[in-house]
Amino acid sequence: MERLIEQAARSLVRGGVTSTGNFVLCALDRDCVCNEEGPRANAARAVMKQLGIGAFIHGKPSFPVPAMIRFLCAQTDMDYPRDSETRTFLHRLPVCDGTPSSMAEALRGHRAALCTDGTVIASGMVSPQEAAVNFSSACFSVYVKFMTDCLTAASSGAMSPALTDTLSRVLPSVRPLVCPSVQKRGPFDRASQVISAMVEAGRLTVECGLVDSCFGNISFVHDGILYISQTGAALDELDGCIDPCPLDDSGGTITASSEYLAHLGIVRKARCDGVLHGHPKFAVISSLHCEEDCATRDACFTACPAKRTVGGIPLVCGEVGGGAHGLYRTVPPAVADSGGAVVLGHGLFLAVQNDFSQAVARMIDIENRCITDFRRRMEKVL
Ligand SMILES: [Zn+2]
Ligand SMILES: [Zn+2]
Repeated sequence: MERLIEQAARSLVRGGVTSTGNFVLCALDRDCVCNEEGPRANAARAVMKQLGIGAFIHGKPSFPVPAMIRFLCAQTDMDYPRDSETRTFLHRLPVCDGTPSSMAEALRGHRAALCTDGTVIASGMVSPQEAAVNFSSACFSVYVKFMTDCLTAASSGAMSPALTDTLSRVLPSVRPLVCPSVQKRGPFDRASQVISAMVEAGRLTVECGLVDSCFGNISFVHDGILYISQTGAALDELDGCIDPCPLDDSGGTITASSEYLAHLGIVRKARCDGVLHGHPKFAVISSLHCEEDCATRDACFTACPAKRTVGGIPLVCGEVGGGAHGLYRTVPPAVADSGGAVVLGHGLFLAVQNDFSQAVARMIDIENRCITDFRRRMEKVL
């Protein structure tokens, strides 16, 4: 269990979600094991006991999320973000004051909650990894929620003094991402080269801030086989977590990414070598901000009918996984046309050709366009 806790803790720190010394992560083995001891660990044990859960995390996210949380907690009628992480994992983020009993109360029926002091708590039924993913999702949701609120308020001329104040502290942290250099160049002759290129691309995608390590996925076709990251695998630790899947309709392995069908559809329809999928924050934020005159205004978070582009590529709707509204149906045609697509409230799918260098650079470019556009809009209202 110590090893699992350490693994989950490392992935949070590497992804920049929080930093060492700023969080307690506990899980139930024979006893409750924590990554640190002290008052925070004692409180964590009390919460776990009250709720009967197997894993728990309480921590301070990296800047600027705590400032955003304090702002959101002071709102009387907070509505919740509609990005994919929130819809999939959280549904709602309750608020508590940080005492053990209030934390237990807030987590009853919820996977994560916000504390008024700017920290986040999250639970896992069994594994510390599950608690870490919920913690990370909550941080992502807060970021997206705050920034989309800023876009909405700025475009309707409704910036409150409190929002302006928090935004002016947060905005300097919004800077263009730096494009990493991809060393593993194609064409690849052997499967082992494909795998090491995927491991490198996954790590770089996380390191440069295009996705939290718990999310995103990646694939590449070699010799009639689609190599794809496993579901739930940390994108920056893919070694040993890549599955070979057939390219025909015989189906993927049970551990293959939940987006296996989307990847398969993309490589077939767009005739590309692979797919890079990330959740760059500002592409997601821009996708959630609809300025068109849509009749279904309230539904624009999930089903915007307007033909929009984000960062220069088409925006499509689509839910995670299969089903009639699955993104495996909507994304492949858009990627075939434009080499990439933004899924509303979710992230980016890009076609990969020859190796991952161009796709990584393109994802950085799209995100940086969204960042520049966001900064321009915010600087006008500050
Ligand atoms: Zn995704
Ligand atoms: Zn719309």
